[in-house]
Amino acid sequence: MKRILVTGGAGFIGSNLCERLLADPGNYVTALDNLYTGRMENLEKCLKSDRFEFIEADVCDPVNIPCDRIYNAACPASPPAYQKSPTKTTKTCIFGVINMLELATKYNATLMQFSTSEVYGDPEVHPQVESYRGCVNCHGIRSCYDEGKRCAESLCFDYNREFGTKIKVIRIFNTYGPKMDPDDGRVVSNFIIQALKNEPLTVYGDGTQTRSFQYVDDLIEGIIRMMEYSRSDFTGPVNLGNPGEFTMLELANLVTAKTGSTAGIIHMPLPSDDPTRRKADISLANAELGGWSPAICLDEGLDRTIEYFRGLI
Ligand code: UDP
Repeated sequence: MKRILVTGGAGFIGSNLCERLLADPGNYVTALDNLYTGRMENLEKCLKSDRFEFIEADVCDPVNIPCDRIYNAACPASPPAYQKSPTKTTKTCIFGVINMLELATKYNATLMQFSTSEVYGDPEVHPQVESYRGCVNCHGIRSCYDEGKRCAESLCFDYNREFGTKIKVIRIFNTYGPKMDPDDGRVVSNFIIQALKNEPLTVYGDGTQTRSFQYVDDLIEGIIRMMEYSRSDFTGPVNLGNPGEFTMLELANLVTAKTGSTAGIIHMPLPSDDPTRRKADISLANAELGGWSPAICLDEGLDRTIEYFRGLI
């Protein structure tokens, strides 16, 4: 049995990953989560498996769990969630990755760090390639997350150089799909919930800012390829995202058309430091992860996600 630890296992990405890992009968999966933003209902299916265990704990506290693989996904990730307690967010990034790196070093396990496109900040290079070092405000309202995740990457590479710890670092671009928290304040969930309730869609700023949206199944496929099938010395960082680029107005129009909402949109103030443009360059992932590229376009992914949210409200 391969012993796998998933921190943030009750979260959106963590719980999708746990389900995928359990589909392999050779895996024993332990999910660790403090349920700060994670939700037990995400683990309903996993909890039926005798190869699954849930531990309610904070990744900031050291644990001793023998394991072969660690996926370190624990951290509030939507801007409203990570800005609720910025100091807690930075601590989660830093103490969390240190605890997991210590564990990986002790058991000679491979640690995958869930980093983010936020390390590029408000980028001057477009699309974003891994070699671009980013443009991050280090004292703004997003810096708790951006700098926390940047320092976490730095710790991964230092543990690797100093102690030989086995690491893999992925940079996740905006991801959406089933198991998203309807209240986490992200644009995809907000728009869909608002449209299903026939309330106006809240577009921040003029809506010309862009993002690339990745369906969660594509991300999970990239994660598994990175952990299990990439060269052992391929540490990353590697971007995992969908290179399709959309403005928030385009997204609002798409969601409106798909749901038949008649409430239109309203503009709200743009939060500070909101990145203007974002688009994943995935050439490295494509080359290193067996030709990986997203298979599910926004049109199809939104249909599936709307179905999921319909079932919730
Ligand atoms: N946004 C929006 N309406 C919302 C929520 C977000 O227009 O109800 C915008 C937000 O300002 C940003 C983009 O959508 O430009 C993506 O926001 P999200 O919080 O999903 O993720 P981010 O990429 O900013 O971390």
